[in-house]
Amino acid sequence: MADGTESESRKLLGRLRDTLAEEGAGQARLDKITHLIADSMGTQVCSIYLFRDSETLELCATQGLKPEAVHQTRMRVGEGLVGHVARTGQPVNTENAPATKGFRYMPETGEEVFSAFLGLPIQRLGETLGVLVVQSRDKRKYSEDEIYALEVVAMVLAEMAELGAFVGEGAALRALHQQAVLYHGTTGQEGSAEGHVWLHEPRVVVTNPVADDPEQENARFHVALDDLRLSVDDMLGRLHPSDKDQREVLEAYRMFANSRGWMRRIEEDIARGLSAEAAVEKEQNTARARMETVPDPYLRERLHDLDDLSNRLLRILSGQGSETGAEMPDDPVLIATNIGPAELLEYGRRLKAIVLEEGSVGSHAAIVARAWAIPLVIHAKNITAEALNGDVIMVDGDQGVVHLRPEDTVVSAFRDKMAMKAEAQKRYVSLRDKPAETRDGHTIQLYMNAGLMADLPSLEGSGAEGVGLFRTELQFLIRNRMPKRQELADIYARVLDASKGRRVQFRTLDIGSDKVLPYMKPNDEPNPALGWRAIRVGLDKPGVMRMQLQALIRAAAGRPLTLMFPMVAQFEEFKAGRDHVFRELEREEALGHALPAKVEIGTMLETPSLAYAPKQFFDMCDFISIGGNDLKQFFFAADRENERVRRRYDTLNVSFLGLIERIVERCEDSETPVSFCGEDAGRPVEALCFAAMGLRSLSMRPASIGPVKSLLRRVDLSEVRAVIDKAWDEGEQSVRQPIMEWLASVPR
Ligand code: PEP
Ligand code: MG
Repeated sequence: MADGTESESRKLLGRLRDTLAEEGAGQARLDKITHLIADSMGTQVCSIYLFRDSETLELCATQGLKPEAVHQTRMRVGEGLVGHVARTGQPVNTENAPATKGFRYMPETGEEVFSAFLGLPIQRLGETLGVLVVQSRDKRKYSEDEIYALEVVAMVLAEMAELGAFVGEGAALRALHQQAVLYHGTTGQEGSAEGHVWLHEPRVVVTNPVADDPEQENARFHVALDDLRLSVDDMLGRLHPSDKDQREVLEAYRMFANSRGWMRRIEEDIARGLSAEAAVEKEQNTARARMETVPDPYLRERLHDLDDLSNRLLRILSGQGSETGAEMPDDPVLIATNIGPAELLEYGRRLKAIVLEEGSVGSHAAIVARAWAIPLVIHAKNITAEALNGDVIMVDGDQGVVHLRPEDTVVSAFRDKMAMKAEAQKRYVSLRDKPAETRDGHTIQLYMNAGLMADLPSLEGSGAEGVGLFRTELQFLIRNRMPKRQELADIYARVLDASKGRRVQFRTLDIGSDKVLPYMKPNDEPNPALGWRAIRVGLDKPGVMRMQLQALIRAAAGRPLTLMFPMVAQFEEFKAGRDHVFRELEREEALGHALPAKVEIGTMLETPSLAYAPKQFFDMCDFISIGGNDLKQFFFAADRENERVRRRYDTLNVSFLGLIERIVERCEDSETPVSFCGEDAGRPVEALCFAAMGLRSLSMRPASIGPVKSLLRRVDLSEVRAVIDKAWDEGEQSVRQPIMEWLASVPR
């Protein structure tokens, strides 16, 4: 390889593969590998550093540095040139390492005599596993060709690590896919569950990183590529003319599948001895590394498409993927990078838990998980690269923690906790038909939030008085086309049937911001949460809103109809929305359709401005429902989708409670019924404080009704109020701490 020829490179890869096939401990393999590489590249030093834990790299094998330094020399990510390569994922190539910025001298290695340094990340699917380094005495820069060849070697090392080739006595290495791993993510939905991993899109495991016959590999690559192109063309051919966005994505796929640069790089890697799978994956790694650094969202999306395309190609090449014949376990815990609501609905309620690498609390997949009370943890970084189908997994949705392949002690502690929760659940069921009445005689009406047909059975099971918020957008989000009026009318009628005369507050379509319909072009807005959304869209382009109102009126036919508008920010918007309802009622009557027995028109209160609207507004509203999720984000100017700030301001902050109290007072002045339907209503301590501020109606996900009711029945609201007032007088920022202290003294 010193002469840079492809055949030298192939020879080295062949020897690496033989090493992999040999019996023996992982350490012996690593030693041999460093020797082979140094020899083949004609350099004095070759070293392999691997992650010991998420922060520390360890010298695990070397040819040329002092052998005593092996497993002794460690550095933190970012420290020295090796740490720099690990942190940035980028190569460092310098002819004079000691004079290079960031160099750190490690006396035990004896490396001071080596001048030239080339370090490359050992990466697999965007995850850096370690660093491969070559060094030589003379001052020289490694050539492009040498870097390229070493990259191919690093790729094979990553695959070997993946296959567990370096695990064994003496080697302080992470055994991929074998050890217990703990993930600290974010709570998407509370609850705990244990089960077995089911990967939404199983990763392809490349078992043959090195191939003997480049021509044959190249032919395999081209056959697979042709298959891929045909399948993309086929998908394009099956698209409906209105599926514009899907078409765009597929066109991008097609463009990549025909991209000469991409193809050429893969062919070159194959010529150097990589198998077709490994060559595709190497390109995929490069694209992933680029994805991390590209700030432009459009380009990132395109790189994402390329990633997806590579996955498809890998599945075709290896015959793995959905066609693997793997069977879903009885207790599946779904693992995915991200998942849309429609895909999630296909799995149905059989899932025990869901763990996502991305996702957000307000996303509709999260809302579906919540409606089903399936524990959900989001932001579990890199779990799709580590988990394998069938692994034991325990998900603690309360803490946002996931234990993959847990140790026995964790398993028993986890099960104890689940047993305690099951006990509490039994208590809640026994309260189902009892009122949420406080000790001092205040009854709080508890309603449930819904949006899917799957939610309806909870109306009976949860003890809810009715549906305080029916999110109609979910029916729009789970389809890949706009639903028709009759379809909607049928769904709404079924909801009313299931409610058996209980109140159901339908909210008109709330799209925009985080709720983007897959079949509508997203608006390119600088700040979608403050942009063209919800009733703003409804009033500016009333076609869809009118169609929805007609469907609601037809569904009610002779029964009461209760509806409200989302994101109203001023009186005029409410009036305009209400006028639309009256117009549609007239129109439906003229068409001979039966009208609802009674129509109540209310609004969500989600913007602080509405709390200060004129009294006439409150007089005109038949009811008001406080949408705390949005209200809070606008009140504190903290994006509910932004993990960095969304928890910064406590709901029990005295300013927010003050706002709630003001809204309650204004509603009382006009005798307008008011409730609260944001997520906080389902948190027992928050619910308690809202009740103390005067709210007598709360709407929450069904699973929260039991815990909220149980707490409300234990307390005296005047005492809660006294604690809040005292905290307020004493200048506390949040009443949480004093309330929690007081609650500790309240009898069970
Ligand atoms: C809210 O904003 O509190 C609310 C209930 O609406 P959504 O979460 O659907 O925006
Ligand atoms: Mg809202």
